[in-house]
Amino acid sequence: MNVALGNHILVEFMNCDPHIMNDVLSIERDMVGAAQKAGATVINSTFHHFSPYGVSGVVVIQESHLAIHTWPEYGYAAVDLFTCGEMNAWISFDHLKECFKAKSYSAIELKRGSLNLLERNDFDISTMRSKASEWRNPDFYTRNVWFTDKDENQALSLRFTGEVFYDVQSPFQRVRILESYKYGKMLALDDMVMTTEQDEFHYHEMISHPAMFTHPNPKNILVIGGGDGGTIREILRHDSVEHVTMVEIDGEVIKACKEHLPAIACAFDHPKLTLLVDDGIAFLKTAQASSYDIIIVDGSDPVGPAEGLFSVEFYTNCFNALTEKGILVAQGESPKFNEKAFAELNHTLQGIFGVDNAPVSLFYVPTYPSGMWSFQYGLKNTDHPKELSNDDLVTKFVEENNLRYYNADIHKGSFATPNFVKSLLKQPK
Ligand code: SAM
Repeated sequence: MNVALGNHILVEFMNCDPHIMNDVLSIERDMVGAAQKAGATVINSTFHHFSPYGVSGVVVIQESHLAIHTWPEYGYAAVDLFTCGEMNAWISFDHLKECFKAKSYSAIELKRGSLNLLERNDFDISTMRSKASEWRNPDFYTRNVWFTDKDENQALSLRFTGEVFYDVQSPFQRVRILESYKYGKMLALDDMVMTTEQDEFHYHEMISHPAMFTHPNPKNILVIGGGDGGTIREILRHDSVEHVTMVEIDGEVIKACKEHLPAIACAFDHPKLTLLVDDGIAFLKTAQASSYDIIIVDGSDPVGPAEGLFSVEFYTNCFNALTEKGILVAQGESPKFNEKAFAELNHTLQGIFGVDNAPVSLFYVPTYPSGMWSFQYGLKNTDHPKELSNDDLVTKFVEENNLRYYNADIHKGSFATPNFVKSLLKQPK
């Protein structure tokens, strides 16, 4: 009988679910599961998501490997299952057919390393065995799952452990809590990085404190969005605050962050907070005039439920809901990622608040593509935030609250605008 060293099954999975074909975390989980179900010992999994779409990956097993490349646009996955020893790779095949929801498929099985073509070398196998014994405990394997946040021209990839702590399709978006090696657990909405344990303070300190120290006496605050809770946590550090209203459209985001990002979602029970699970756009349509000293729009990117958070109507309603010296702060996209939305938002704010009353604050956030991000302001009869005069008060507050990003210098410096950004923000003639 023609004995061979290995068994290779080359598979064509066709008419698969295209979303699954583009979901690097699910594919990694299913490929590892396919190996384990067939009794393999998994040593490592490395998977990459490619921009604009597609996943490549390999699961290295003691019995050789399972590998995949997907074409989501064709609902197609090319898979190869290479095994040696007793393992039955057809068990892995069946598992993947189910997971990928393949409506059609084909496969060929090849014998690899036919012994009647090979001659065995005689050498002292114990030297090899001692080398092999160095490797780790079979119950442990490393996972490298690269998650990519991207637009059509640039991407940010972060290496993940592959653990998915929360994965719910809400009526508004896909809400996931994933775990990255460098930044810890992370909230992703429709594959967009929102906030991570290790760098959330960059964003939440900078969306809150510059406005809070610019307004003469901020008491009544409105937060639109901000479902992870980081913004209200920062706002509620200020003693002047009497009441915070938060309007977040998606209860799943709040639930996921309370469960898995407790250090961020720690202020939801604060007595000064009124939490509404509702559409912020609708809320502002009927908001009473001159109600809020500060309105913070902590929204996601201008797609899905957040699209309307970038409209003239919405910001006109914000203007009307602000008190006499009110300040608006909005998540403002980036001069280096989604530039069009960045510039258009500022032109909208200039049109409503006045050309000189729509300053932009730039800050650094490593887990957003390009790292350079903005908060955009609308000032209603208020001094420009860069004219900060109460530096000592800021410094005392920073020390008392152990802030790790915001301070008096950063407050002023963040409103210094590079020339290329000034040109981007110039109103079209
Ligand atoms: N705070 C995050 C960070 O650190 O990067 C940023 C964004 S926060 C997660 C964005 C929130 O806006 C999401 O929870 C999303 O559900 C919410 N949102 C989007 N559209 C909304 C709307 N129309 N009304 C209220 N909330 C909205």
